[in-house]
Amino acid sequence: MSHSCVIDSEGLEQFDLSDSSIRFGHLRYQEMATENLVCLNDDIWLHKHAAYAFLGMSNAMHRDGVAPVIIRNGYRSYKRQARTFEYYRVKKELGTVKTLTRVALPGHSEHHTGFAVDIRLPKQAANGRLSRSDSYKWLKSHAHKYGFSESYKKNNIFGVIFEPWHWCFNGCAESRALFSTRSLLLKNIDPSNKTLLDIICSNEPMKDYADELFQKFPKIYSALLTH
Ligand SMILES: [Zn+2]
Repeated sequence: MSHSCVIDSEGLEQFDLSDSSIRFGHLRYQEMATENLVCLNDDIWLHKHAAYAFLGMSNAMHRDGVAPVIIRNGYRSYKRQARTFEYYRVKKELGTVKTLTRVALPGHSEHHTGFAVDIRLPKQAANGRLSRSDSYKWLKSHAHKYGFSESYKKNNIFGVIFEPWHWCFNGCAESRALFSTRSLLLKNIDPSNKTLLDIICSNEPMKDYADELFQKFPKIYSALLTH
């Protein structure tokens, strides 16, 4: 696959974000304006609405006797995303295609919005896996009340690996607007539709599929076009 990219002064590969190579699994997101972000701790920043909701959710977990989960990642700039992408692609030797199944290209991560969190179990409960923990079970049944949902469930339509740690806040008008295309895809795509899934899960630029998409799935095509 081809990417247009340049190497910046720090030796980081910078992907060209101006081309229209939207990938289904990686919709495009703007970096959230700094004045909307609040710092939690350890250099973790979140959109204020998500931070407030997360606090309420943590309290509820505590009240219900399960270990409240800890945020290990919140807001990420394009630059930091590029560094993360390169870490997996080069240092971990995954290559571009495999990296795309677990790290979004800079410009395409929900973390840019400040509404997404990566969570982990607290130290005292960290023996087990997050996905098998009571905390995770609790989140599956209650997180939606606080506006949080899992972005990448098992066998998700976006061609991204199962990410039980990645949750996104969809509980205010601003976040709902940002994630409206994503919601539309989830509502309209039948996961058993192989033709469509092949397009979605492909890591080739979307424009390569524009014609086919326009003819077979006009509603989805127009949603993506305006995203
Ligand atoms: Zn994440």
